Amino acid sequence: MQVVIVLGVALLAGCRPADVRAPVALAIVPELAPRDDLWRIHFIDVGQGLAVLHEFPCGAVLVDTGGELDERFDSTAALQAYLDAFFARRTDLHGTLDLLALTHPHLDHTRGVALVLARYAVRNAIDDGLTTGSGAEGQVALQRWVQQQQGKVGYRAILRDDVVDAHGLTDTVIDPVRCDGIDPRIVALWGQVAQDPGWPGVRYGKTPFQNANNHSVVLRLSYGRAAMLHTGDLEEPAIRDLLARSGPTGALDVDVYQVGHHGSINGTLPELVAAMTPELAVFSCGPPEWQVMWSAWKFGHPRQEVVAMLQAGIARRRRPIDVLVGVRSQTFTAQRVDAALYASAWDGTVVVEAEADGRMRVVTAGRRWPGGRVHGAPASP
Ligand SMILES: [Zn+2]
Repeated sequence: MQVVIVLGVALLAGCRPADVRAPVALAIVPELAPRDDLWRIHFIDVGQGLAVLHEFPCGAVLVDTGGELDERFDSTAALQAYLDAFFARRTDLHGTLDLLALTHPHLDHTRGVALVLARYAVRNAIDDGLTTGSGAEGQVALQRWVQQQQGKVGYRAILRDDVVDAHGLTDTVIDPVRCDGIDPRIVALWGQVAQDPGWPGVRYGKTPFQNANNHSVVLRLSYGRAAMLHTGDLEEPAIRDLLARSGPTGALDVDVYQVGHHGSINGTLPELVAAMTPELAVFSCGPPEWQVMWSAWKFGHPRQEVVAMLQAGIARRRRPIDVLVGVRSQTFTAQRVDAALYASAWDGTVVVEAEADGRMRVVTAGRRWPGGRVHGAPASP
C-alpha cells in the first residue's frame, strides 16, 4: 500500500518566530580533502532552483545562480556563503569564474546574478539570449553588464541552430578553461530555438516554445573519462529532439546527470536515461517541508516517476535513504532510495568528485534547518 503524505506545518513546531521571519543562509560547506587533481561538481543547496559550481584544477565555472527566496530561506545569501568559502579555499583562483552560464531566464536560475557580478570576477558568460521570462531581470542584467565591459568579457548567446555538429558547439567563450595536463572540455548541445510554427512532430502548446524551459542551454562537461550533462529545465518535446540530434553521436553518454527540471515529470525520459547510462544523478530542488509558492512542495519535486526511472536505470548504489517524493503538487509519498540518486532536498549540498580516469566519489553536506538542526549525513559512500 502506498502511503501518501500531505505535509503539515507540524514539522516546523519548535521554531522560534524569529527563525521563520528572517531569511537566513542555511548553507553548509562540506569538508573536502586538499586535492588539486580532481573535477569537483558542487551542486550548491539553493533550495528550489539550481546553482552548480564546477571546480577544475585551474579554474571554475558556475552554471546558474539559484534559487529560492521565502521567509525561511534566502538562496542568494546561501550562494554567497558557499562561493566565499570556495574562493577562500581556492585562493589561486582570485575570486574568478572563468565562465558564468545561465541556462534560461527563470528566477530559480537567475536570482543570484547581481550578487555574482558584484562580488566575483567573471571572464566569460553564456546564456540562451532570451530577454523575457520570470528571471529575465537577472539575464538582461548579465547581458547589459557584458556590454559595459566593452569587450573585456566574452559573451555568447547559445542558439540551438548554431549547434551544427551534434557532438556539440564549443569555442573559447563556451570553454574558456585551459588546464595543463587534463584539460576539461565544455560543449553546448542546445539553446534558444528560433520560433518555428512548422517544427515537425512537436507540440509545445498553442505557441511553439512559449515556455523558456525549452530554450535551456544544454551543456556537456567532461574531464578525462568523466562527463556530466546539464539539461536545464528542458521538457519532453525538446528532449526528444535533443535525443534525435545528439543521441547517435554519443554526446549524451555521461556519468553524472543533473536531473532535468528539478526532477519534474516532464524533465526526464526513459530514452534519455538510456542514452546517458549515468552512474549517478543529482536533483536540485528544495525540501518539501517548506510550504510556500514556487517551492518543491508546490511543484511536487522530485516526482515519484522520475525517481523510480532513475532508481531502475542506475546500477551504482548509495547508502539507503528514506525520502519524500512528489506524487503531484503539494502531495508526497515516502520512498526508500538506494540507487546513486542524490538531492539537495535530501542531502543538502552534494559534491561529486571525479577523477580523470572516471572514478567518482560523492560528498554530501546535510541540511541545516531553522532552529539549527542538521538533517542528512555528513558524508555518503
Ligand atoms: Zn528551474
